[in-house]
Amino acid sequence: MKKLNAKKCVECGLCKNDCPVYRALLRETVSPRGKAKLIKKEMAENIMFLCTLCGACTQNCPYNIDLEIEKMREKIAEEGNDPEANKRLIKRIRKNGNPYVPTEEEKIGRFGVKKL
Ligand code: SF4
Ligand code: SF4
Repeated sequence: MKKLNAKKCVECGLCKNDCPVYRALLRETVSPRGKAKLIKKEMAENIMFLCTLCGACTQNCPYNIDLEIEKMREKIAEEGNDPEANKRLIKRIRKNGNPYVPTEEEKIGRFGVKKL
């Protein structure tokens, strides 16, 4: 079935109970339906980063709605409004090629270790 975008969401909530983020936080705003409402209003909120990108919402949606969270994140990051954790992750990937190795600044800040 063809995927539809968030603007076609009818807000039925059938996607909600299998969303791991909603199940953990029990807040409507973080549910796929809550995110769809924000996307419809073109509100690129940091809440888009509260998503595992698991795709369960699309799987459970009778209309096959794809929220395209990655695109929303990209837009937020381009505007420089993404969370600090995301900025650090991007910096690490650019510098070290992976998200796990701390940057030199983080090593100095955390352990007081200076680069030789
Ligand atoms: S995304 Fe689909 S399942 Fe979820 S509220 Fe919208 S129409 Fe319903
Ligand atoms: S993709 Fe995101 S919004 Fe959809 S079910 Fe998974 S965690 Fe929830």
